[in-house]
Amino acid sequence: MPPASSILNADLHCHSVVSDGTLTPEALAARAKANGVELWALTDHDEIGGQHRAAAAARANGMKYLTGTEISVTFANETVHIVGLGFDPDDADMLQGLHKTRGGRGQRAMEMSDGLARVGIKGAYEGALKFVGNPELISRTHFARFLVESGVCKETAEVFRKYLTEGKPGYVPHRWASLHDAVKWITSARGMAIIAHPARYKFTPNEEYALFTEFKAHGGQGVEVVTGSHTAQEYVKYAETAREFGLAASRGSDFHSPEESHTDLGTLPFLPGGLTPIWELLADRIQ
Ligand code: AMP
Ligand code: MN
Ligand code: MN
Ligand code: MN
Repeated sequence: MPPASSILNADLHCHSVVSDGTLTPEALAARAKANGVELWALTDHDEIGGQHRAAAAARANGMKYLTGTEISVTFANETVHIVGLGFDPDDADMLQGLHKTRGGRGQRAMEMSDGLARVGIKGAYEGALKFVGNPELISRTHFARFLVESGVCKETAEVFRKYLTEGKPGYVPHRWASLHDAVKWITSARGMAIIAHPARYKFTPNEEYALFTEFKAHGGQGVEVVTGSHTAQEYVKYAETAREFGLAASRGSDFHSPEESHTDLGTLPFLPGGLTPIWELLADRIQ
């Protein structure tokens, strides 16, 4: 009997220097391969500029590949991330939508820097820029790296806790894409939309129910069940949610950096049984 398709080392969520990771697409591909990844996707935030490089690097390493991205969305006043997989990386509407989503980041970064200056941290915008690999994609992660480098905090998690989350001096509220637009860009480009790391959102049960219900209504197809952001109990909880909403399940480390990420590429447990792996639905889009 062939192994169940849930027994596949698929890693369908990670970041390169094209967004807020520290490795190039090529270095990520080599690392994924070394860790036994069989099916890989690079999912940079709001950006698909690394897709052709990543697909070529996967091919050079003998790995299967799905195109990927992770779109920032505002839903019920909270930032939600929607992963897209298996879309056409040259789709004009998707490219334009992502370009627009990235658009507010420069201004937001300057306001973040002003907030940090008010508590005595000078030059954070210029400092963060030194860590940026893509000028359109300055993110909180780059500020966190600067605050660690300059000795303000010991590690990036501490920077987020003390400076970059709601109510803290470097936090600037931002309006990202709508859930409807993000799902539409992905599905119109022949891809599938997946709710990333659902346990990370600070939603009430009613808000979470609304997120899944609206996501389904817009044509979303999957949810991350096994991710570096979930505990073992949360794998069980979101496996149940996937069944309840008739969603396929995805698996991804959310790897950003050898120095910062606690979950390496390809090292998570397999998907639990009894779910439809998203890669089954995307079989004809695997390169
Ligand atoms: P942004 O899109 O600029 O709001 O930045 C979001 C990114 O910050 C996420 O994709 C993570 O890479 C990172 N991040 C968010 N929260 C934390 C945290 N608590 N610790 C470390 N990194 C975080
Ligand atoms: Mn990130
Ligand atoms: Mn995310
Ligand atoms: Mn991510």
